Amino acid sequence: MSEVVTVEADLSIEMNVHCPNDECGSYIDLLNSSDTDEHDHNDDGYLLSQMFPKNGDNTDFECEDVTCSKCKTRFNVKGLAW
Ligand SMILES: [Zn+2]
Repeated sequence: MSEVVTVEADLSIEMNVHCPNDECGSYIDLLNSSDTDEHDHNDDGYLLSQMFPKNGDNTDFECEDVTCSKCKTRFNVKGLAW
């Protein structure tokens, strides 16, 4: 009889958007400050606390004033698909 082992799981979350600047189009992870011009948008869990739908969808999800590290374009995010 083989013994069943127990392991710990790692949770890995990314919240990805494409930079709206057509000439850039950089793939940006909102949870990675190196993608967002060193700004931590998840301060106090702001983004992760919005992850779970309140009304059956994530249309209220928002992240304001994001800056693309690559081209410095500023934009807002509204809605989260998963
Ligand atoms: Zn960009």
